[in-house]
Amino acid sequence: MAQRPGFPVKLQTKDKAPSVKAPTVKAPASKPASTNPHGLGLDSSAVRQRMVQKLAAQGLKDPMVLQAMGSVERHRFVESALVNQAYEDTSLPIGLGQTISKPNVVARMIELLREGAEGKLGRVLEIGTGCGYQAAVLSHVATEVYSIERLKGLHEKARANLRHFRLANVHLLFGDGMLGYPKGAPYAAIISAAGGETLPQAWLDQLALGGRLVAPTVTANGQQALMVVDKTDQGFKQSVLEAVHFVPLKSGIS
Ligand code: SAH
Repeated sequence: MAQRPGFPVKLQTKDKAPSVKAPTVKAPASKPASTNPHGLGLDSSAVRQRMVQKLAAQGLKDPMVLQAMGSVERHRFVESALVNQAYEDTSLPIGLGQTISKPNVVARMIELLREGAEGKLGRVLEIGTGCGYQAAVLSHVATEVYSIERLKGLHEKARANLRHFRLANVHLLFGDGMLGYPKGAPYAAIISAAGGETLPQAWLDQLALGGRLVAPTVTANGQQALMVVDKTDQGFKQSVLEAVHFVPLKSGIS
């Protein structure tokens, strides 16, 4: 397979997160200040390593993806009531009727994106920022990540969640991802976290030659499946992979 282009081009973006001061909390005099603010051992990398071992046992094998999955603290993206489930292989609600995808699905889709690519991917477009988790994982495997969300509430939540990580190569955009994001095009890879009836033309247009698109899409039997599209100099090559369950891709913003 052709190598995925690297695109050294650096685009100017204006979405620098404003710096916020963390609230200063005084520890009570009798107790030493906690080194584990969540009190659940979730700040320990061992928790994530266990998750990575499970992913590897499930057949995921791209070292760069496993490394990324092992380094992004998923518990920082879920509500405190659900934090205990953050490293289980389950999707979880993130508000406004949307969900953070299962770790297995995130890893699988990114592994598909990287298949045949040497080193990091170039610019990647993610449709459906949600809570920002997948964007954070992508930031470890790509030079630049453009992530677009149509719900203002989630766009802002992702911005707040990601502030902690200070990922200079993640650019959060508020808008309708069905139109892609022409300013960042062409993309070495496009990944959608929401499933539509068809693949929007804008995604195909904005994909670089040699680039790959991975998106859940409704197939002939009315069920969603993962669709992989490669843009080659002989045209688009499409394959339909396993069945998946993603939230619907919707047009417009809200
Ligand atoms: N990657 C996310 C998953 C979020 S769920 C995470 O790690 O949390 C999918 C998201 O796609 C939802 O937040 C939904 O609002 C968003 N979405 C659906 N249609 C969209 C569109 N046309 N443009 C941008 N975002 C869209």
